[in-house]
Amino acid sequence: MPNTKKDDKKARLVQIKADIIAKNICPDLAQNATNLVMGTGSADAEIVFIGEAPGKNEDLQGEPFVGAAGKFLDEMLALVGLKRENVYITNIVKYRPPNNRDPLPDEKRAFWPYLLQEIHVIKPKIIATLGRHSMEYFLPNMKISTIHGKPKRIGIGSDKVVILPLFHPAAALYNSSMRETLISDFEAVPKIIEQISNDN
Ligand code: URA
Repeated sequence: MPNTKKDDKKARLVQIKADIIAKNICPDLAQNATNLVMGTGSADAEIVFIGEAPGKNEDLQGEPFVGAAGKFLDEMLALVGLKRENVYITNIVKYRPPNNRDPLPDEKRAFWPYLLQEIHVIKPKIIATLGRHSMEYFLPNMKISTIHGKPKRIGIGSDKVVILPLFHPAAALYNSSMRETLISDFEAVPKIIEQISNDN
């Protein structure tokens, strides 16, 4: 059976990638990158995960979260019965910053409109931000250490969405207490999805 709505969403996501290239966003990053790393997963996902920027493995493979942090993310998805292909995973900045430095404010600002377009196409119920770089754009002036794991409903244009701020999986890889916190925040995801479905 044809799935024109989903195909249309996929085509719009492909167009966003073409626009980033055509507009020559962050040429300095682009020059040193192997790939422009767009989001992956389902264009119909109920939940979108947003990290900060590709690392070395992501740059080489052209896919977000395929290195050590991505493996941990996969483990947490499995823990709550989700698979990569049923969610959508992306980053705010879509080229690898040199030597994995933090993305600069100008770089985040340059890519922000394209992230908004991705979200507008997918229309998720939940956006789980991974780390402060993506969180600060949705929940400005908040501290991740105090609001992690606490869902917050916001409006993005005419769309309503719940933001779930989470620690970044890379930060939790070698920090056992942050790891436990991240896992326990993650475990709330099915309940939040259920609650949103009941509210609608
Ligand atoms: N860290 C991120 O924020 N994004 C990736 O894609 C990989 C590691």
